Amino acid sequence: MRPYEPIRERLRGGRTVILDGAIGTEILRRNVTWSDHQLLAQPEVIRGIHEDYVRAGADVITTNTFQLSDRAFLHHFKDADHMRRVGAPCLEELPAAHIAAGVRLAREARDRAAGGRPVAVAGAITTLEWCFRPDLAPDPDMAFREYRSIVEQMADAGADLILFETINNVREAVAQMKAARAVGVPAWVAFVVDDKGVLFSGETLEQAVEALAPLEPDAILINCAPPPDVETGLRRLLPACSLPTGAYPHVGRFDPPEWMFTDEYPPASYARLCREWAGRGVRVLGGCCGTTPDHIAAVRDALAS
Ligand SMILES: [Zn+2]
Repeated sequence: MRPYEPIRERLRGGRTVILDGAIGTEILRRNVTWSDHQLLAQPEVIRGIHEDYVRAGADVITTNTFQLSDRAFLHHFKDADHMRRVGAPCLEELPAAHIAAGVRLAREARDRAAGGRPVAVAGAITTLEWCFRPDLAPDPDMAFREYRSIVEQMADAGADLILFETINNVREAVAQMKAARAVGVPAWVAFVVDDKGVLFSGETLEQAVEALAPLEPDAILINCAPPPDVETGLRRLLPACSLPTGAYPHVGRFDPPEWMFTDEYPPASYARLCREWAGRGVRVLGGCCGTTPDHIAAVRDALAS
């Protein structure tokens, strides 16, 4: 049985599923730089973080593949010819190589740490342009082609599902789900919301749910916003959505390109928040930027009690 099937059954049966916490900020917290995602240079660091999340009780772990795409590399150059002429050798192969490494390390961590418990590997994909800038989003046809390529790479590498995360507008989410359907992999979609619980594009979560429903995502979530904004978003999402829902806020403040860790939500209070959301029907609970394996272990314990 594919590792995602038991997770899907739990969602459909109305039970909770624990998602992992942050990868990128956890790399920083362990005093390793974010450069290169460290997938190729220091794979043991990434695999170790995944293992810690599996041991903390995560049912789904996410790959360290934030904004890994051909587009992200091309952005540094005038065009593809310029990249070939002045860029480091093999830049064209790097996005795919990183994605394959990202999925492989998560799978290896699962094999080492899950102890037979079903743990699914979610290929993490955010927006093609900056995740907080819906005004930069590419047109839907172009987006579909690029997402299809990334989703294929994730699926070929062995991802069990795709987690589209920190999505800021509806049409890009639709292009993503069409890509997942075209490739034939299960997918969740997680939106970032503002303090009004609205997408950064100004569209509502109700509109997002309506647009995505025909494409059958397995879950619709809210992520990468502070807990009060996620709470406001959930008040809109829960009544509008008949699909399983999820929430994984961030903890701390964005200090580009790194992260400022704060003590506003230590594991115990973060877990109380997640338990409260679970009590209101939120099915998937985990953590975004700034959360740690201790947060996820506390969420596991809180949900079990
Ligand atoms: Zn985040």
